[in-house]
Amino acid sequence: KQDDDKDKDKADRATSEQVLDQRTRMILLQMINRGSVSEVHGAISTGKEANVYGAVLHDDKSGDTIQRAIKVYKTAILVFKDRERYITGEHRFKGGFDKGNNRKMVKLWAEKEYRNLRRIYAAGIPCPEPINLKLHVLVMGFLGDRKGWAYPRLRDATIDGDDVDQQWRNLYIQLLGLMRKMYQVCRLVHADLSEYNILYNKGTLYIIDVSQSVEPDHPRSLEFLRMDMKNVGDFFRRQGVDTLPDRTIFHFITAPAGSVEEPAMAAAVELLYESRHTAADEDEAAELEVDNEVFRNQYIPQTLEQVYDMEKDAQRLGNGEGGELVYSNLLADQVVAPKHQHGNGEQSTSDSDSDSDSGAELSE
Ligand code: ADP
Ligand code: MG
Repeated sequence: KQDDDKDKDKADRATSEQVLDQRTRMILLQMINRGSVSEVHGAISTGKEANVYGAVLHDDKSGDTIQRAIKVYKTAILVFKDRERYITGEHRFKGGFDKGNNRKMVKLWAEKEYRNLRRIYAAGIPCPEPINLKLHVLVMGFLGDRKGWAYPRLRDATIDGDDVDQQWRNLYIQLLGLMRKMYQVCRLVHADLSEYNILYNKGTLYIIDVSQSVEPDHPRSLEFLRMDMKNVGDFFRRQGVDTLPDRTIFHFITAPAGSVEEPAMAAAVELLYESRHTAADEDEAAELEVDNEVFRNQYIPQTLEQVYDMEKDAQRLGNGEGGELVYSNLLADQVVAPKHQHGNGEQSTSDSDSDSDSGAELSE
């Protein structure tokens, strides 16, 4: 009993003046006792679904202070009801959402972010290092300077110095590479990618906020990918970047052939610029714009069941035709390794981040 009180005091001090519920504070205390963090500081961000706090870890051996960020998902909210569309159809979450149990739902959500982050981090994509997860509390590496200032979101980043236009163009190309690597190596579509969920420092883009990211076999993954491409394109166009058509980018991201490393990916994007068909006059420019718009709204099948005349299309691809099929690369994948013949809908691609090994300590 006395120990409990002492723990409670310690938790109160370590979490300073935060308005956190008792359950959350106990989780933080446990993390402190296990050495994930030493102190929890003020909120870096307060959002609808989660708050992000700064934290530090004092390394007693080296005397160093290591910065951490802690994302605490809010457990008593209704915003999560919309989240179902990301979970439904995800083979990793076969149990689906139990809408009656908010706490469980939020825990699932934090777990999803943690797992996705692990994949992205393992692939070498700049992002917070996933450190620890307990229920709805996620500890990760801090993206910011040594004084504890978080890097700005891309939206708020100041790009100055020589040739600002060139720098913006480089960032655009860098981001296309990250999207491709995320798709090809991590097998993930971000699904909420925009200038708000990218941090910027010294020419490098960091991907954050990946709780809603889905695998390519999610029924709506390509819809989410097109949304991501649109957000990214709109933002960089506003910065004056001459962007590539969505159709071209879609192929760049989803086509398995080609490198997934820099500088090869940036070189591949430059080739796309060079081989790009540029409009000869205003009429043609308008036509290309319409084409882009059509692509954005086009129906892209993702599974064998969704391809209407799959046999005919596959045959055409076999004959070296059908290049106009927007899903030709996906279709080729399907023909070689049909994903939906495994009975339970499990993906057959090697996935080191398997269900049984999330690395997370989950007590429920
Ligand atoms: P939300 O779901 O509220 O959008 P995010 O994951 O996007 O949550 O985080 C919200 C904000 O917190 C980000 O815009 C960023 O400013 C900050 N943030 C999140 N993770 C980190 C981190 N690892 N390091 C530094 N700042 C972070
Ligand atoms: Mg966000």
